[in-house]
Amino acid sequence: MTSIPTPSFLSDPHKQHFIDGQWCGGDSGARVDTFNPADGQRLATLARGNHADVDRAVTAARRAFEGPWSRFNPAQRQQVIMRFAELFEKHFEELALLESLDMGSPLHTRLRPAKNGAVQNLLYYGSQARNISGETIPNSLPGNVTSMIIKAPVGVVGGVLAWNGPMFAQLNVIGPALATGCTVVLKPAEDASLAVLRTAELLMEAGLPPGVVNVVTGLGSEAGEALCSHGDVNRIAFTGSTATGRAIIRASAGNMKRLQLELGGKSPDIVFADADLDKAVPGVAMGVFNNTGQICFAGTRIFVQRAIEDEFVERLATFSRTLKVGDPLAKDTRLGPVISQRQLDQVLGYVEVGAREGAKLVAGGQRLGGELANGYFIEPTVFASVDNSMTIAREEIFGPVASVIPFDTIEEALALANATDYGLGSGVWSSNVTTVNRMMHGIQAGTVWVNCYGLLDAAVGFGGFKHSGYGWKGGPSQTEGFLYQKAVYINA
Ligand code: NAD
Repeated sequence: MTSIPTPSFLSDPHKQHFIDGQWCGGDSGARVDTFNPADGQRLATLARGNHADVDRAVTAARRAFEGPWSRFNPAQRQQVIMRFAELFEKHFEELALLESLDMGSPLHTRLRPAKNGAVQNLLYYGSQARNISGETIPNSLPGNVTSMIIKAPVGVVGGVLAWNGPMFAQLNVIGPALATGCTVVLKPAEDASLAVLRTAELLMEAGLPPGVVNVVTGLGSEAGEALCSHGDVNRIAFTGSTATGRAIIRASAGNMKRLQLELGGKSPDIVFADADLDKAVPGVAMGVFNNTGQICFAGTRIFVQRAIEDEFVERLATFSRTLKVGDPLAKDTRLGPVISQRQLDQVLGYVEVGAREGAKLVAGGQRLGGELANGYFIEPTVFASVDNSMTIAREEIFGPVASVIPFDTIEEALALANATDYGLGSGVWSSNVTTVNRMMHGIQAGTVWVNCYGLLDAAVGFGGFKHSGYGWKGGPSQTEGFLYQKAVYINA
């Protein structure tokens, strides 16, 4: 293992909430530990937020919303976002190191390559600040009545984040909130909060008034629940599991919060016999194994046309064995650990269930020992001869486990791909435009990648069908979600 550098942000590992522009201790004094999943060692402790802490943060956010932040015009909001983008870029290495230590994502092969996309994401949201407009609408009313639609920011937004990439996920809450004039209380996941806490300092440096972005750390069942049920929060932007999404729908009912729910997936990646396998094999493999399978849109159900099944399975298994699993800070590591012992147990449990239900294990499946024994490392795992009804093909594993399922016809592939409660990502690998056309219209999922997998752009956006949630992350429709619209009639 590389000797672990200590980022200056961790020189004091007892982190506090960030409320109203400053660090502050929690109401109860209780703490929650956060661990480095590569060695199982405690990395830092976080304030364990409760109702009182959330209330304090929401009050600060409301004060900033109605006070200093409301006096920023769109051009000034854009300037703050642009300054934040510059600072995010300048401090990217530090944030990426924190994220890598906190959640195990490979620093060199995953986090660093995402730098430009993250900065572009912020530049897009900066542009959105200047793109909010209303409409004058001709009407059928008697007299001289002018009618129009104008827009107003919804107010205080609660951002509840998953642990699988908070450094990037937070931008999809902060960006649209700042663009529209909203304020934010973020509740990062208890397993990975550090990059989000450090980012709060950068936002202040960018010129945000205190209280515009606040961070309350702690458990979902405490701080998360308090935020989602708070009567003065107007919108929740949530990234996490479908089960938690359901709890949030219930918790939000009290004051009719608007919701953006980015939930789980069990995405199909479909390889036709006419695909270019030199591209499809690594593309499909990294569609599952990227971030050690801990990606909501991971293409875990790999449908392969029977004519190429044997060749594809062999090449996929061979490719997966070439992927280096290990120290997230090492240059050539492609897969880091999974986030926690709990996640490791869950993934290994699914491997066992897959074998028990009759799937054929053709690669991986083992926890790694030796110098990696203290971390939560597991080999990239490939099951062949999977049936779409098996547990490993139905439930979200959230680990590096691929299931290959054969099919014969295009209609069968479509039916199998859609036979899931989820509808987040999907992939199609084919050189036939008619096949591609049929699939892109027929697949019930928020994104269809054709001859590629996992490309994202904030201007296009991302979202789910069915149990994968609702709302859209990025694009103009997300901006609209952070705005109320108001009809105005002027009788002149
Ligand atoms: P999770 O649902 O357990 O937790 C997500 C967040 O919700 C955490 O901050 C947690 O503390 C909080 N939380 C938990 N219970 C809560 C409650 N009752 N009220 C309010 N907040 C609560 O999910 P996770 O394990 O952190 O992340 C993995 C899941 O996230 C997977 O299902 C994955 O597919 C999904 N995900 C979806 C997207 C997307 O864009 N669709 C992106 C990333 C992750």
